[in-house]
Amino acid sequence: MGVERKVLVVEDEPVINQAVTDRLRGSGYDVVQAWDGPGAVKVFAEAVPDLVVLDVMLPGFDGHEVCRRIQADRPVPVLMLTARDDEADILVGLGVGADDYLTKPFRMRELVARVGALLRRVDRAAELAERTNSDLGDLRIDPAARRVWVSGSEVHLTPTEFDLLLCLAASPGVVLSREHLYAEVWGWPGASGTRTVDSHVKALRAKIGTGRVRTVHGVGYALETPHE
Ligand code: CA
Repeated sequence: MGVERKVLVVEDEPVINQAVTDRLRGSGYDVVQAWDGPGAVKVFAEAVPDLVVLDVMLPGFDGHEVCRRIQADRPVPVLMLTARDDEADILVGLGVGADDYLTKPFRMRELVARVGALLRRVDRAAELAERTNSDLGDLRIDPAARRVWVSGSEVHLTPTEFDLLLCLAASPGVVLSREHLYAEVWGWPGASGTRTVDSHVKALRAKIGTGRVRTVHGVGYALETPHE
């Protein structure tokens, strides 16, 4: 990878914040810290991190609001830490631009692995863009500019939703398993992230139209090919 990647850790519980920070530093990352909502937005602007580890429950304003504000500034991968394995909570997070989430309590080893996978995904997105089909009937994708139009109107996708769409659009009409999508988009093999995939597909459908991504129960998802 060469250049040292910078991670912003946002967590109001000092012991957890420091433990995550120490572990990431031990794994070779440059780490900056914040302990509340306003502090997170400030440090983000000053330190320009490559990735943010973001707790949801924070003083000032919460992690969802932090995510909304920093993603409006510039797209950045966000790993959200949630206290509960609550789908509603997770969907709110994904809707404001979180890319992946971990439920507390989590293992440090898993956190470091997810951080590494998210950063690798940024590099992989360029490769995916080369394989994608950019013209799918009334769905048009500009991989270089990372923009999408449905029936001529631009749709704003989060970085993860965009990468997921690119992956589906690389093989339109082909059913891709949730495990395959997780490995391709998140760069992380195995079945541990299949719910993450489901949640992002749900969010993607809400934006590009429910009928465009077909669910094959027990298997995975396929992007519908355009009907002439
Ligand atoms: Ca907290």
